[in-house]
Amino acid sequence: MRYISTRGMDIANSSMEAIVNGIANDSGLYVPEIIPRLSEQELVRFSKLTYNDLALEIISKYFLDLGKENIAQAINRAYNDRFEVKIENNFLELYHGPTLAFKDAALLLLPYLIKLSKDKLNINNKTIILTATSGDTGKAALEGFKNIDGIDVIVLYPKDGVSDIQKYQMITQEGNNLKVIAIEGNFDDAQSAAKSIFLDKNIEKILKANKLNISSANSINIGRLVPQIVYYFYAYFDKVNSGKLSLGEKINISVPTGNFGNILAAYYAKTMGLPIKKLICASNVNNVLTDFFNTGVYDINRTFKITETPSMDILISSNLERLLFEISDRDSLKVKQCMENLKNDFSYKIDEEMKKKLKGFYANYSTDEEVKKRINEVYNKYNYLIDTHTAVAYDVYMKYVEESKDNSEYIIVSTASPFKFIRSILNALGTSTIGKSDFELVKDLSKQYSLTIPNGIKDLNKKEIKHNINCGKDEIKELISTLLMEG
Ligand SMILES: *Cc1c(COP(=O)(O)O)cnc(C)c1O
Repeated sequence: MRYISTRGMDIANSSMEAIVNGIANDSGLYVPEIIPRLSEQELVRFSKLTYNDLALEIISKYFLDLGKENIAQAINRAYNDRFEVKIENNFLELYHGPTLAFKDAALLLLPYLIKLSKDKLNINNKTIILTATSGDTGKAALEGFKNIDGIDVIVLYPKDGVSDIQKYQMITQEGNNLKVIAIEGNFDDAQSAAKSIFLDKNIEKILKANKLNISSANSINIGRLVPQIVYYFYAYFDKVNSGKLSLGEKINISVPTGNFGNILAAYYAKTMGLPIKKLICASNVNNVLTDFFNTGVYDINRTFKITETPSMDILISSNLERLLFEISDRDSLKVKQCMENLKNDFSYKIDEEMKKKLKGFYANYSTDEEVKKRINEVYNKYNYLIDTHTAVAYDVYMKYVEESKDNSEYIIVSTASPFKFIRSILNALGTSTIGKSDFELVKDLSKQYSLTIPNGIKDLNKKEIKHNINCGKDEIKELISTLLMEG
C-alpha cells in the first residue's frame, strides 16, 4: 500500500518506506492511502483469534508489502513472553510489558518493522534512534530495540526530571547497542537538544561520512500507530466472546490522551468497521483537546501545568494532524493551513464541515483532585487499583454517562500499572510516602494491597548499573558527535 503525507507533498510507495522515513519530507505525517475496511465475515473470523493472530491480520492489512510470514515472525518475537493484554472490570490493561506502560505495545514491535523494512529496501546504513524522554518512551525504546541488528539507540533523559523507577529502568538496561545519557536540566532541555541534533549541519556531515541514518522513537511513525489498533478489536471481541455483547453491537471507549496516538488508533479501528459508538477523549487540566472537540478551536496560548498524570502533560498533540486529515475529507491544503496557523499564532480553527465530523467523539478533562477521588472510588467498588492516567479515562467516562445517560457496554483504556506512578497512587489512597524511596513504596503497595510486584521493576535497585554518562546541556552536541564517530 502507498502512504501519503497529511500535507500533500510527499508519497511513500510502500509501507516500508513510510516506516523507515518516519516523518514525511514535507513535515506531514504518513497515512495509508486507503484505510482498510473489514467485511462482516472477517469480523466473525477475527473474533476467534488469539492476540498474536489477530495482530497479524490487522497489521497485514496495512503493511502487507513486508510479507505476512515476516510480520508473523516479528509479532511473535516482539510479544511472546514479553507483552500481553488483559481485561478486568471493563479496564483494558495495556501495561503487562517490560516498562509497565502501554507504549510497549508499539515499541516492542516497531524495531522489527524497521529492521524488516530496511532489509527489504536494501538499506545497509546503520540507523541511530535518538530519543529524548520524560520517562516512559525512553525505557520502552531501549527495551524494544535492544540487540537489534543495524540499529543503535541513544536516549537522553533529564537527570532530575524522571522518577527513581524510571531512572533505574533506564540505567540498568542491558543490550549491546544502547546508550543512556543523563542531561543536566529538565525535559525541555533534553528535547531541545535532541531536536537541534536532528537539524545540525555538522552532525549531518558526520552521519554521512559514517554511513549512518538518524531517526527517532518519539516520532509519529505509522509503524508505531498500527500495532495499537489491534487491542481495540481484541477488547471488543473479548466482550463478544464472554457474552456481554453481540457482534455488531456498539460500545463506548474512553482513552486517556496526550499525544493523540492511542485514541487515533481507536478511530482507525472504528473506520475499519469496529462498532464503536463514542470515542471518549480524556484529558487532564492541560485540556487543549477538550476545548478543541467542544469549540473547533485548537489553542495552545495557555500555561503548561504539571499534574499527577505526567504522560498526558502535553499541549501539542502531534497525531491530531491525522484526524484533521480525515475530517477534512483528506484535504491536505486545509491541514497544512491549520499547522501553519498553529506554528505562527499558536492556534487554529476548523470550519463547520470539519466540526460536524467530530460528532463521534466526546471530550472532557479531570483535575488531580478528581483523579484521586476516582482511584479510591474504583478501589472501594471493585477492590481494584488503577493508575492516575487510567483514573482520568474513568472520570471522563463517568462524566459522559452522567451527561448522556448512555449505558452501552464500555471499555476504559488502562495505560499504566499502579506500580508505575506509585507515589501518586499511594498519596491518593491516603498512605504517607514521605521519606521513602520509590523502591520501598513498591514493597509497601505490594504488601498492603496483596499485589505481585511486576517483573519490570522487581529488584530493580539491585540490578547492575550499565549506564552512567552525565552531560551538561551545552555539551550534548559534542558528546553525540563523538559517539557517532566512534560508531
Ligand atoms: C503516553 C501515555 C499516554 C498518552 O497516550 P497518547 O497516545 O500520547 O495519547 C497515556 N498514559 C500513559 C501512561 C502514557 O505513557
